[in-house]
Amino acid sequence: MRPLHMVDTHSQYHKIKQQVDKAVLDVMESTAFINGPAVQEFSGNLATYLGASHVILCANGTDALQIALMALGLQPGDEVITPSFTYIATTEVIALLKLTPVFVEVDPKTFCIDPAAIEKAITPRTKAIVPVHLYGQSANMEAIMKIAGQHKLYVIEDNAQAIGCNFHFSDGTSKKTGTIGHIGCTSFYPSKNLGAFGDGGALCTNDDALAHKLKMIANHGQQKRYYHDVVGCNSRLDSIQAAILNVKLNYLDGYCDARRTVAAYYDEAFAQTDRIITPFRAANSDHVYHQYTIILEGVDRDAFKTRLDATGVPSMIYYPVPAHKQKMFEQFGVDGLELPLTTYLTERVISLPVHTEMDEEQLKFITDTVLSLI
Ligand SMILES: *Cc1c(COP(=O)(O)O)cnc(C)c1O
Repeated sequence: MRPLHMVDTHSQYHKIKQQVDKAVLDVMESTAFINGPAVQEFSGNLATYLGASHVILCANGTDALQIALMALGLQPGDEVITPSFTYIATTEVIALLKLTPVFVEVDPKTFCIDPAAIEKAITPRTKAIVPVHLYGQSANMEAIMKIAGQHKLYVIEDNAQAIGCNFHFSDGTSKKTGTIGHIGCTSFYPSKNLGAFGDGGALCTNDDALAHKLKMIANHGQQKRYYHDVVGCNSRLDSIQAAILNVKLNYLDGYCDARRTVAAYYDEAFAQTDRIITPFRAANSDHVYHQYTIILEGVDRDAFKTRLDATGVPSMIYYPVPAHKQKMFEQFGVDGLELPLTTYLTERVISLPVHTEMDEEQLKFITDTVLSLI
């Protein structure tokens, strides 16, 4: 059997090695390492793929979230509502900008922020909502945009795990996640669904004025060279990464399909036990399975993981500690905050390998092993 990994970027690279190598060598030969033609080309192609008016490329997904929040003109102490059950980057940038994170519950089925919990958390200081499309499935963006409209709040989508995912509105129309809120942020970290060969990130928006601000902030607050109008930062996607991503973008829909095939195999194999709750499929969203995350019922999750580790089947706990229990946020007086659904998930979830290069022999071994240990 081919070796098992959580992601197999090596096999994925080898399938498109010739194209990727040529794209990299072309940039090397041009020496246009920063803001070269490959950067313009990729940002145009990504905008077309997403159906967004503007794409602003940047250095990583965390920077994208930070730049998005910087563009909203918020004041210290303004409140930003976000799930506690997420990767730390989503919430960290809020605190970094001296804004106040307000952590709310997720829907235990979709793992994404619960719109009813958002509504309850709104105060006169609330300025923005940052939903996360966790594991590759969209949060309920229709409900979130309705709440945001009623209360005049900004919505910044953390789309780091869901690039390529479609959200379906009740009127029958669909949009790509990341293009529904005021700003969408994504990451090209190598293990993400559209992974670079290093760090990378992007913002997208359909708002011309916001696009202008985002561009300036990512480029030292300047519009004209050496004239700096606002405090910004230095966050760029370099040309080599853009050239690689430009090749890989053509394969993104295929990569999503490959992940869905893996998920369907797992779903079927685990249907026989009620100790495994397989990922919920929301009617209003595609699933691009950045992770295949199950909930274990009536099983000691950590003991199970130790037994699974011993068999050589990789697995990960995303995430063992919710944001509101992190030391980093003690300053916001959230240690007494009770989010029982979030706690329930952090104690019971486990993610199994899902990537674009898995074969049936590997899937059979993983599912047989998991079922024998459960
Ligand atoms: C990966 C990720 C980020 C951050 O992306 P980086 O490129 O690693 O900075 C932010 N939010 C979520 C949900 C992520 O999964």
